[in-house]
Amino acid sequence: MTLLDGKKTSEAIQDEIAAEVTALKADGSKIPHLAAILVGNDGGSVTYVNNKVLACERVGFVSSLFHYEDTITEEDLLNKIKELNEDEEVDGFIVQLPLPKHIDTEKVLEAVDPKKDVDGFHPINVGRMVAGLPAYLPATPAGILQLLQRYEIETFGKHCVVVGRSNIVGSPMSILMSKNASPGNCTVTLCHRYTQDLAYHTRQADIVIVAVGIPGLITEDMVKEGAVVIDVGTTRVPDASRKSGFRLRGDVDFDAVAPKCSYITPVPGGVGPLTIAMLLKNTLSASKKEVYA
Ligand code: NAD
Repeated sequence: MTLLDGKKTSEAIQDEIAAEVTALKADGSKIPHLAAILVGNDGGSVTYVNNKVLACERVGFVSSLFHYEDTITEEDLLNKIKELNEDEEVDGFIVQLPLPKHIDTEKVLEAVDPKKDVDGFHPINVGRMVAGLPAYLPATPAGILQLLQRYEIETFGKHCVVVGRSNIVGSPMSILMSKNASPGNCTVTLCHRYTQDLAYHTRQADIVIVAVGIPGLITEDMVKEGAVVIDVGTTRVPDASRKSGFRLRGDVDFDAVAPKCSYITPVPGGVGPLTIAMLLKNTLSASKKEVYA
């Protein structure tokens, strides 16, 4: 069994990005600039955004953080998005989700200029991805593709079972794995909360990708010998022995499942660290105008 080391892979990607930034600086070119909008003080969101800003600093990007109270009106938020759309200094920006209930998330995501939508959540980018056109790919599925590619895991003709169909992970992952691409060319089954007999499907999988948010959902009897298992789940569970008071648990019963696998991601340290690296990669692409001329 080989552990898929997301931390190491993420560091390698960030080193590659940092080297490109150094080269851009050397020839006097514009340095990539990522902006982030954060609304409210949700603990998870604040941590995620701070980590994104820190990662920008590490690779030499310029970053800006716009932090608003959760009382901000939808109109004010849309105005800020318009400003960032028009700001030529900013190559890409993200609006950290979730947003407060009084704000229409779809409306906000659609207000972002697709050319600056480095999260890949705008329907134009989703549509371009489905059509196989150049697009910003959502960071978590893109990170999983990097893991498969860098560990040279064969995907051609394999049966990939994706569990969870969210717009940010499961659904795009299922599309990307089915594409005539490398990694890709899998036969894909997409499972969700109404799937009958989940174990029947996962047991047939050469590659299982789970993004549900139920700790330990995938047990040893649900995985075939030699399978590749990618665990996206990150649920905070109470842990009195930690300073933070919690630890992260994945959707896979790691200790029991790992011995059966050819490859498996740990939680934490698997998929998680790649998400930020891919956001940076999308921002670099935005500044180089690689996706949209
Ligand atoms: P979500 O929370 O929006 O949706 C959960 C999905 O799981 C739904 O599509 C639902 O149909 C499916 N589901 C629910 N119960 C099920 C069951 N019993 N069997 C099969 N499917 C079931 O999904 P999300 O936003 O993709 O988040 C999923 C998990 O991944 C969460 O733990 C989240 O924290 C984590 N996550 C991690 C990263 C990262 O590591 N970078 C990024 C995104 C999400």
